[in-house]
Amino acid sequence: MTALNRPIIEIRRHQMFPVLEPAEIERLRRFGEIRFFRAGEALARAGETGHGLSIILAGKVDITQQDGSGKTVPITTHEAGAFMGEVAQLSGRPALVSAYAQEPVEALVILPERLRALLIAEAELGERIMRALILRRVGLIETRGGGPVIVGRTGHGDVLRLANFLSRNGHPHQSFDVDTDPEAQAIVERFHVNPEELPIVVCPGGEFLRNPTESDLARCIGLVASIDPDRIFDVAIVGAGPAGLAAAVYAASEGLSTLVLDCRSFGGQAGASARIENYLGFPTGISGMALMARAYNQAQKFGAETAIPDEAIGLEVDSNSDRHVLTLHNNERVSARSVVVATGARYRRLDVADLERFEGASVHYWASPLEAKLCAGQEVALVGAGNSAGQAVVYLASHAAKILLLARGKDLGASMSRYPVERIKSLSNVEIVMQAAVTHLEGNGGMLEAIRWQANSGEMRRLIPHLFLFIGASPNMDWLAGSGIALDSKGFVLTGSDLGPDRLPLETSRKGIFAIGDIRSGSVKRVAAAVGEGAQVVATLHSFLTSQSRKPARVSERLELRGLGAAALAEVQRSVEQI
Ligand SMILES: Cc1cc2nc3c(=O)[nH]c(=O)nc-3n(C[C@H](O)[C@H](O)[C@H](O)COP(=O)(O)OP(=O)(O)OC[C@H]3O[C@@H](n4cnc5c(N)ncnc54)[C@H](O)[C@@H]3O)c2cc1C
Repeated sequence: MTALNRPIIEIRRHQMFPVLEPAEIERLRRFGEIRFFRAGEALARAGETGHGLSIILAGKVDITQQDGSGKTVPITTHEAGAFMGEVAQLSGRPALVSAYAQEPVEALVILPERLRALLIAEAELGERIMRALILRRVGLIETRGGGPVIVGRTGHGDVLRLANFLSRNGHPHQSFDVDTDPEAQAIVERFHVNPEELPIVVCPGGEFLRNPTESDLARCIGLVASIDPDRIFDVAIVGAGPAGLAAAVYAASEGLSTLVLDCRSFGGQAGASARIENYLGFPTGISGMALMARAYNQAQKFGAETAIPDEAIGLEVDSNSDRHVLTLHNNERVSARSVVVATGARYRRLDVADLERFEGASVHYWASPLEAKLCAGQEVALVGAGNSAGQAVVYLASHAAKILLLARGKDLGASMSRYPVERIKSLSNVEIVMQAAVTHLEGNGGMLEAIRWQANSGEMRRLIPHLFLFIGASPNMDWLAGSGIALDSKGFVLTGSDLGPDRLPLETSRKGIFAIGDIRSGSVKRVAAAVGEGAQVVATLHSFLTSQSRKPARVSERLELRGLGAAALAEVQRSVEQI
């Protein structure tokens, strides 16, 4: 077995399960409180709200996960100096694993808020702990442990929808095929499920859902919780793509109370990129999902609160208080002193009859490992000629048997950068057809069988079960209708000097509402540009908030409220000043 396909727990065990020295534990005592557990008592149960990080001071704790059939599988045993927890503990979300005391245990329990304070205040120790928490999540995703189980038919649109949602949110899960998996059949029998009710989802807490929406599933597994309607955030950020996540990292690290929400998952369009090669500092490239997962964890580490999936459907200003009120799809309301609009863009759909029938199972807008697995060894068609289309072709070419690339223009180089064009041309299993337009889709039961397209040589038809569309994107601005925010002729949000000399940089036509990233008129549609604007907007937010009658507390006051001691405060203050 090569290092590449060895489990992460084997390759990086020492980083996943580090043992702290007694002097290090002494330093951390101020963040937690001592608790005692009897032999056999649970320190954590999968599916139940976690209590943060527990450092074992004496005794042994067995950590286990459930496999899809409900069997308990051991992960490790923690002894004195080890700590238990994974990234869910940063925000107090439900535990994905169970932990039982093997013998009487004494532990230092550090609640989520204090854990975040520790990670900031104790730079070196914080780095080791944060790395361990992230690697443990990666390990759970790899072994598909601790998450919900989807039972349905492989390739069914709703199975893909739910699996995609969990993957894009970095949540472990398993999918069982009811036609081939005895465990799936046992689950279906146990819950008396009719075939037309599939897929079903069994959550770690034992709850059972019939073909749920993403929102219902997220609530069942504790990914998202209710938002306190009386709470007023300094800033509410709508959209957790690179622009929104960057704004969340800078705002939260500078002490602003920050909520970031997204209707789908963190990462936005960048999360769908198979490999980002032009982002500064990653000379070998990085998958969009890996880059965005880092940003998401970083935002949580600094205390940004997240609500994913939660969709904003309206934005108004409460004239009595100058507060901005976001209305969410689930009827919740969020109040904030300022709002950052970072809703980016969404993929364009092809103007061809019956497209909707095939979306979900056969027509795809992302090229992630999930889709790659689905079309392994088959011929696929891909429509598009931009850089995102180029990346997708290069990625899919190593999984699919053949790729038919259909593009409207005469020359790929006119819309695609040189490096993907050269790579595509060197791939023997890619056929490029220029000046081509898809005219018909054929198939049954939502499964595509053939596509027809018009090209210079006439109308062509080919048996193809999967079609990928990468034909550009339009701004996600529908939810702003009625907000009075000025847009340009294409629907992108106008900001700053485009609106007049009295506007702050990145401020929209409404005071206290800012727009960043792809949604902004005139923005450069790149990850780095979106991240840059996310950082820049926070400086502007400070000017805006301090100009308001209710000034935000100084950074030090806010961090003090979060429970940091004087020495830690000084350290954080210094690092904030360096940002
Ligand atoms: C496949 C692909 C590959 C790419 N590759 C590269 C690359 O290699 N290099 C590069 O520099 N750029 C690349 N790009 C472009 C880059 O990804 C975008 O420029 C960048 O993601 C824009 O970031 P953003 O945060 O402004 O918006 P987005 O990434 O679009 O994020 C917006 C977020 O807002 C959410 N949202 C929308 N409406 C609502 C609502 N009403 N309520 C709540 N949430 C909402 C969406 O779900 C989304 O998560 C690629 C794009 C794609 C599609």
